[in-house]
This record gives sequence, C-alpha cells and structure tokens, in this order.
Amino acid sequence: MLILSGREVAAKVLAEVRTDVASLRAKTGRQPTLAVILVGDDPASQLYVRNKKRAADEVGINARDVLFPQGCSQAELLETIARINRDPTVHGILLQLPLPRGLNEDQAVAAIAPEKDADGLHPMNLGNLLGGKPGAIPCTPAGCIAILDHYGIPIEGAEAVVIGRSRLVGKPLAQLLLARNATVTMCHTRTRDLAAHCRRADILCVAAGRVGMVTGDMVREGVVVLDVGVNRLPTGKVTGDVHFDSVAPKARAITPVPGGVGPMTIAMLMRNTYRAAHRQLSR
Ligand code: NAP
Repeated sequence: MLILSGREVAAKVLAEVRTDVASLRAKTGRQPTLAVILVGDDPASQLYVRNKKRAADEVGINARDVLFPQGCSQAELLETIARINRDPTVHGILLQLPLPRGLNEDQAVAAIAPEKDADGLHPMNLGNLLGGKPGAIPCTPAGCIAILDHYGIPIEGAEAVVIGRSRLVGKPLAQLLLARNATVTMCHTRTRDLAAHCRRADILCVAAGRVGMVTGDMVREGVVVLDVGVNRLPTGKVTGDVHFDSVAPKARAITPVPGGVGPMTIAMLMRNTYRAAHRQLSR
C-alpha cells in the first residue's frame, strides 16, 4: 500500500512556482501579489491566512493582508473588492471563506474580477470548468488531481466515486475527473446505498466532513483513496473522513490526514496566483 504524500507533492509544486515566479520577476520586474481578504476574527480562518502567507513568502509571492473587523458591512466589503480589482499591482485575490453570518458570500465571490480569482470559485471560472476550458481551478480539487498525476495513477477509464457535492470540492473535483475521462459517480446525503457505490470505485474521493465515515467494508481491494476531510476531534487531533486503519490495508494507495490533500490546497493557490500574474503581466 502506497501512502500518497500530499506534503511531498506540495513541496514539488511550490518549488516549481518559486522558479516560475523568479523568472517572471526577472522578465517583468514585477512581483506577483496576492490580496488575502479576511473578515472577522475566526481563529481557524486566521490560521489558514497565516499559512497562506508563509507559503507565499516561500515562493516569492507578495501576500497583502486586507483585514476587516467582525461586523463590517456587505457594501464595505464589495467596495474594497472593487478597489482591489482595479489595482494593477494586485494579481490574485483570495476571499477567506466562510464569511461571518450576515454577509452574502455568493455576491462577494462574484464581485471578484474573474482574472484575479485565485480560488477559482467565481461563477465564470466554475462555468469555464464545466465548459471544458478551465482558467483558475478550485485549489483543493486541483490538488487532488495533482496527487494522482504525481504518483502515476491512471484516471482515464477509472470508476471514480466522489462523496460530497460542494461548490468548493465535490462538484469541481467530479468535473476534473470527468475531463480526464473517468466514469464519475457523485454521492451525497440522499444517495441510497453509499457503500455499494464506494465498492465499485477504482478512485474514491471523500469530501463530506464526517469523521471516519468510509470504513474498510465499504471499499474493494486495490482502491485508490483521496481523503479530503479535515475534522478536528475534541482532543485537538485532526482526522479525515476515511477510517484509515480499516481502509488502508485494502487500498492500493491512500492519502493520510494530515499530510495528504491538505497541503496541496495552499500549493495550488500559489500556482493559481502565479498563473494569474503571468497572464496579466504578459499582456
Ligand atoms: P460541505 O460544504 O459541508 O459539503 C459536504 C458534502 O458532503 C455535501 O455535499 C453533503 O451532502 C455530503 N455529505 C455529508 N455527509 C454525508 C454522508 N453521511 N453521506 C454522503 N454524503 C455526505 O463541505 P466541503 O466544504 O465540501 O468540505 C468537505 C470536507 O473537506 C470537510 O471536512 C472540509 O473541512 C474538508 N476540506 C478540506 C480542504 C483541504 O484543504 N484539505 C479544503 C476544503 C474542504 P449534501 O449536499 O446532500 O448535504
């Protein structure tokens, strides 16, 4: 059984981005810049933003924090997004989600200029993904595909089962797998007999946010498992959606949690930011 180390793949992606950023800077004299918008004081969001900043520093991307206090209005947020959209020194925008209650997330995401959308969540970018002409691709699903590719796991023709249908993970991941010619099944809370679908999977992607919901009896021998789940236990330990101890012995390959899909998300954010900067500075 092979452990799919997202940590290793992320390090490789970050190294590539660092080289690409350096050559873009040499050519244009400009530094790719990512504006990170954080509203409120949610500790988990603050931690994610710090980690993103650290990765940006590592690859030579300038991360500019735009902080709003809890209780800021939708109008203030939209005004700031519009200002950053117009700012030619900013190439990528990341709006840290979820927004505090009372703010309209869909409206705020749609206000980001599609060419600066570092998260790939703007409706135009999601539409392009559906249309088979992807621009910015949502980071976590892009990270899942990068792991499969790094380890040479064939996608074409595979039975791929995705549990979870969020805009952030499940839906774009299913589209990416489909674009690579997998036969894709999407499962969710209304799926009848989830285990029967899982047992058919050559590639099983689990993004439900339910601790250990996929157990060894639900998978077939030789399955490749990507566990996207990030669940914090009362002990503080982080664990996935897959019951690792019962699934791993049957799997051909599996991502651990932590150290699997998680590190890929930030690496792909850096790649999206570099690509956005490259497109804007090469015009
Ligand atoms: P979400 O928006 O809550 O969506 C969860 C999806 O899972 C929904 O489509 C839901 O179905 C489905 N689901 C929940 N329980 C299920 C069950 N018992 N059986 C079948 N389907 C079930 O979550 P998300 O944002 O996609 O995130 C999913 C997980 O990935 C979370 O643990 C999150 O923390 C993690 N995550 C990790 C990263 C990373 O960087 N590694 C990034 C993003 C998210 P319905 O649609 O029917 O409700």
